[in-house]
Amino acid sequence: MKVLIVEDEIKISNVISKGLRQYGIESSAAFDGEVALELMKSETFDLIILDIILPKINGWEICKYIRQTLQLPVPILMLSAMGNTEHVIKGLDAGADDFLAKPFKIDELAARVRALNRRNHQYASVPPNELLAAGLSLNLNRMEVKRGETVIPLTAKEFELLKCFMQHPNRVLTREQLLEAAWGIGFDTGTNVVDVYINYLRRKLEADGSLRILHTKIGAGYYLSQE
Ligand code: CA
Repeated sequence: MKVLIVEDEIKISNVISKGLRQYGIESSAAFDGEVALELMKSETFDLIILDIILPKINGWEICKYIRQTLQLPVPILMLSAMGNTEHVIKGLDAGADDFLAKPFKIDELAARVRALNRRNHQYASVPPNELLAAGLSLNLNRMEVKRGETVIPLTAKEFELLKCFMQHPNRVLTREQLLEAAWGIGFDTGTNVVDVYINYLRRKLEADGSLRILHTKIGAGYYLSQE
C-alpha cells in the first residue's frame, strides 16, 4: 500500500510518514497542492491524506480535481481544523471519504487509513465499470468487450447496443428500447437498423461456431442469454 501525504507543515508530514511506516505503509510527501497534483499524474497511490489549507492549491480544489478531472476513485482522508463543520461539509461536497481533526493521534490516523483501504478493496473486487453477462465482459472505461479472454473489437454503436443487453441480461428488449439506448431515438424509425446491427454483433460475438447468445424473440425483440 502506498499513501500520498499532502501537508505543508513538514513536521506533521514527517510524523505521519513515520507513523504509517510502523504499520508497514509506505508514503510519499507533497508540501504544496501543485506538487501533489503532479505526483498524482505520474504515480498511482492507494490513498491520499489531504490537508485543507495548503500553498498554491487548497485541499478542496485538489479533491475536486481528483474526482472530476482525473476521475480517480482513490480514497481521500482529509485533515481538518478541529470542530470546523464548514471544512467537513466542503470536503464531503468535494469528494472526500473521511476526516480527521487536527491535532490527531497517529494511531488513529493509521487505523483510519487501514479501514479506508480495506473498504476500497472490497468495492474494487467488483469493478463498477465492468458488466458481466452470458460469458462476456464489457469494460465501460476502456470500451472493451471480451468473450472469455478474447477481445472482440466493436464499433461505437455495436458497443452501445451490447451495453444495453448486458445491463438487462435474460430480458427481451424491443427494437424501440434498443433504438433509444444505442441511438437516442425514442420511436420506431420504420427501418431495420436494429436488426442489421444485431447481425453485426452476432457475427462478431458468435464467431468460430460458438453458441448463440443474442436470441430473437419473434414478434417482440431480442435478448442476451447463454443457453
Ligand atoms: Ca496546512
